[in-house]
Amino acid sequence: VLFSKAEFYTTVNHLRDLPKEPGVEIAFAGRSNAGKSSAINTLAGRGRFAFVSKTPGRTQHINFFQLGTRRFIVDLPGYGYAKVPLAIRQHWTELLSRYLQTRETLFGMVLIMDIRHPIMPLDVQMLEWFALTKKPVHILLSKADKINRSKAAETLRLVRNYLAAHQIAGSAQIFSSMTSEGKDEAILLLANWLES
Ligand code: GDP
Repeated sequence: VLFSKAEFYTTVNHLRDLPKEPGVEIAFAGRSNAGKSSAINTLAGRGRFAFVSKTPGRTQHINFFQLGTRRFIVDLPGYGYAKVPLAIRQHWTELLSRYLQTRETLFGMVLIMDIRHPIMPLDVQMLEWFALTKKPVHILLSKADKINRSKAAETLRLVRNYLAAHQIAGSAQIFSSMTSEGKDEAILLLANWLES
């Protein structure tokens, strides 16, 4: 699987419009502003704005990027943005929870958290929904360049302990789109998932 070959595939705003063909997907989720778009761009080896752009109207949708034959990165709408009207938030909640819990072609989820603000309440909600599926989650602690090494290591330990304490099938790593720290580690894991 070549991440650098990723291409836009489709945008979906309703579960009924999800691609129906068999395949393998990895979903990327996170609070808005956690660094999800930057992480996808970094992993796909693209410039920051070249690939996952924040086209108005698309950020609330589920965006599919094809990596190879029937291998997809799925960019889920960012959550936790306070200024969004309740009706739209409810639509996201429904879309996210149903997608995560019912999508058969979904192999695993990458959850992006700002390393300075890990495991916020809505992140917990995402982890809890997804844990029911018994599928693996991988946490990218993003923006690691913004804090010192020992603080980063401490947060990583805290997050790993959280997963273990809640019996969540998951892993976590330090990541930075700015310095590309953690890029190789993440690509290795994701390539493994997509080959499964
Ligand atoms: P999204 O809403 O989760 O898709 O977040 P973005 O990828 O758009 O990032 C939100 C903000 O954080 C932007 O201003 C980015 O430039 C910044 N950002 C994202 N990743 C990093 C990182 O690894 N390091 C630093 N210093 N800033 C980052």
